[in-house]
Parts: sequence; C-alpha cells; structure tokens
Amino acid sequence: MLHVGVWVGLLASVLPWWLDTPAGSLETTADVLTAAGRITGLVAGYLLLVQVLMMSRLGVLERWIGGERLSRVHRDLGATLLVAVLAHLSLILVGYADLENKSVLTEAGVLLRDYEDMLSAFVAAGIMALLGFTGVRAVRRALPYELWYHLHLISYAALLLGFGHQFSNGAQLFEPGPVRTGWIAMYLLVVAALVWGRVIAPLRFNLRHRLRVADVVAESPDTISIYLTGRRLEQLEMLGGQFFRWRFLTRGCWWQSHPFSLSAAANGRWLRLTVKVVGSHTADLRDLDPGTRVWAEGPSGTFTAAHRTRERALLIAGGSGITPLRAMLEELPPGAALIYRARTPADVLLHRELDWLADARQTQIWYVIGSRHDPGPRQIMSPDGLRRLVPDVARRDVYLCGPAGLVEESVRVLRQAGVPRRQIHLATFEL
Ligand SMILES: Cc1cc2nc3c(=O)[nH]c(=O)nc-3n(C[C@H](O)[C@H](O)[C@H](O)COP(=O)(O)OP(=O)(O)OC[C@H]3O[C@@H](n4cnc5c(N)ncnc54)[C@H](O)[C@@H]3O)c2cc1C
Repeated sequence: MLHVGVWVGLLASVLPWWLDTPAGSLETTADVLTAAGRITGLVAGYLLLVQVLMMSRLGVLERWIGGERLSRVHRDLGATLLVAVLAHLSLILVGYADLENKSVLTEAGVLLRDYEDMLSAFVAAGIMALLGFTGVRAVRRALPYELWYHLHLISYAALLLGFGHQFSNGAQLFEPGPVRTGWIAMYLLVVAALVWGRVIAPLRFNLRHRLRVADVVAESPDTISIYLTGRRLEQLEMLGGQFFRWRFLTRGCWWQSHPFSLSAAANGRWLRLTVKVVGSHTADLRDLDPGTRVWAEGPSGTFTAAHRTRERALLIAGGSGITPLRAMLEELPPGAALIYRARTPADVLLHRELDWLADARQTQIWYVIGSRHDPGPRQIMSPDGLRRLVPDVARRDVYLCGPAGLVEESVRVLRQAGVPRRQIHLATFEL
C-alpha cells in the first residue's frame, strides 16, 4: 500500500512535464537532455517531500506504517533521491551547455551567477550528497548514532534551500497556475506535518501526561525496568508491542532520545520499559532517580496484536526482544505460544511474570536456552522442530523480535515451515 502510494505520487509529479511538452518538441540532443533534467528535477522535488514526510513523526503514519518500516523505506528511498538530484543537476548542466554552445564549467558559472536561487539549490544538492554518503551502511555503522542523527537534521535545510529555484527557474512551475499552486500546497502540507508531528503533538502529549520516573528495578545484571507514572494514564491510547522515543530529562541524558518498547500493556496506572544496557546511554539509565521528568514521543509501530491476520499467534523472542512480546501477550487472545531464545538461564528476562501470563492467558511457553549452534536450539528452530512444537504454525501469525541474525534465520525457517510472508511480523530494534 505504502509503495503503491509512493509510485502513484511519483507518476503524478511528472505529469506537469508530460502535459506541458508537445509531441515532437524534443528534436535535438540538448532538448532531450534538458527534458530529462526537468523530469528528474520534478522527481527529486517530490521524493524529497516524501522523505521528509516519512520522518515527520506524524501520529497517523507512525501507527499505520510504523516507525521501523518508515525508517527502512526512508533509507531505501534515500539512494533513489540522491541519484535523482545528481542526475537533475548534471542533465540540466550538460543540456543548457549544449543549447548555448558553452563548456559545462562555463555553464555552471552562468547558472550560479545569473539564475535566481541557483546558489542555494547547489548547496541543497551538496547537503543531499553528504547525507546520501552517510546513509551508506558501512559509513552509518562507523558513525556514532547521535552524530549521524544530528547530521540528518540538516536535511530540513536542503528542503528550504532547494525550494526557491523550482519556482524561479522550473519550466513547469515558473508560471502561476494550478501546477505551481499544487506544488506549493504540497510543500506547505509537508511542513505542517513536520511541525505537527515533531512539535505540537509531542508538546500536547507531554503537557497532558507529565511522565516521571517512579522506580528503576534490576531485572538481571545488565537489564533494568523503568517504571513511569503520570497524569491521565487511563486515557493513553497505546498497544502492547508499540514503542516510544524517550528523553530522560537529566543533565547527561536530556539531549538524546532513544526508542524503547513498552514491556507491559496499558493499565492506567504506570508504564514500563525494560532496557538492556548495551552502550553509554542505556548505562546512564541505571542511575535515574525517581521523580526524573520524561519526555516521550509516540506511540509508534504496527508490531501489535491488532495487526494480526489470524486468530492465534506464535511469538519468537531473542534476548531483550522479549520486551514488546511480553506486553503483547496481555492483548492477544488466549492460546498464543511463545518460544523464548536465550543464551543462558540468567539471560531470561521477566521469567516470573511470563510464567504467570502462561497460566492467566493459556499461553504455552518454551524457554530454549543455549547457543544457536547447540543441538537443542538447532533442532527446535528448524521447520520440523517448529511444526512439532506448534503443529498449526502455518495458520498462525508469527511475531519475531530479537537480534537481526535470529530474526533472519527464523524467517527462513518459518517460510520453509509453510508460514505465509504476510503472517510474519518483525521487530529488529533498528531505526
Ligand atoms: C523500535 C525500537 C524499540 C526498541 N525497544 C527496546 C527495548 O524495549 N529494550 C531495549 O533494551 N532496547 C530496545 N531498543 C534498542 C535501544 O534503542 C538501543 O539499544 C539503545 O538506544 C542503545 O543506546 P546506547 O547509547 O546505550 O548504545 P549505543 O552503543 O550508542 O548504541 C547501540 C545501537 O543502538 C542503536 N541506537 C543508539 N542510539 C539510538 C537512538 N537514539 N535511536 C535509535 N537507535 C539507537 C544503534 O543501532 C546503535 O548501533 C529498541 C530499538 C528500537 C529501534
């Protein structure tokens, strides 16, 4: 659905060029190059809006498509946007140079000097090239997450800097008329979505609920649960399996917002997140004092019982991936099954409440302990092993949350066990 929407929008964005270009008007190479430059310009303008919209944190998108999926599509589309921007720039340069019989370098000088808003458009293209480079998987992994994130915020500058040249120079947008008005309206809508999703909605949410840390409890040597209280929690609309972006307002933590899932379903009295210490921020959370104010943005995500297609579900968790599944167990109909993979018995989190839920919600739970190379886990996490444990596995929705390796391997095994792709729901803790 999301992909169809993006494609339909893409076709609509080049429609102005199509309607504006009489048949047989592309006679010379320069005409063809310039036309290709204009088409890629319209495509780039449209894709930039889609990219910003996907990151606007608009509640309806976060709940309908989910933050994790939005980030994935945003990442994939980023490469296409960069290609469109670079193609637009080079095709227009070469096309204009050919039309005016100048060298490409001379033409670049003319564009920068004589054309309105062109300098800022070049700067916008440079910003997008930089962001495209930081999007390369290896570069992204090498950069600290916060640096990478803050670099990305300058994409808003690209949106502003690239705005003017479309109207002062764009052949299809230069003249006042419905196309120009529609294009400006799209920009205004995206900026409105951004302001709503990033500023107004979080402000409303946090003024309304005024969350604070109530307690921090150790669940294992490297895992804590943070309990939060606040006002009007009974009015919170959220589902087990969803996550929030949390900002703990202490001296060292306030400037970072990190995603954590709810590890208990809504109960009107408190919220809980369960956090594995993996780096500096999660280590700091161990020292949170009761009373610390918390700024939350969300809820986000489609990894919920409400998004299933079948009555029954099988949940597969690896390590701290149990957190959203634990919350979801409270909202699934009785008869669910849970396979919980952990390296050692000490790595099993929330053991007692899982056992309690097994009774209360008639859920079967198997704790599968050991490395994935051990014979026991290997046997269970095979198509035959899964079918033996859960004979109707192919007729269940399967929710998977854990390290990327476990999730990928489990998807392969589930497909071999006959589970259709649409019944498999994934959470990999990656944005
Ligand atoms: C949707 C979602 C839900 C999550 N739910 C839980 C949960 O319930 N329990 C739990 O223990 N962990 C959860 N995580 C993982 C958790 O967000 C990271 O472990 C945490 O942010 C690491 O921060 P750090 O500074 O301690 O570690 P670092 O060593 O700085 O980071 C470790 C990795 O975490 C990711 N990360 C770091 N900072 C951020 C950030 N601000 N935003 C997004 N990703 C970041 C990066 O991939 C990074 O490589 C979830 C992640 C996502 C995306």
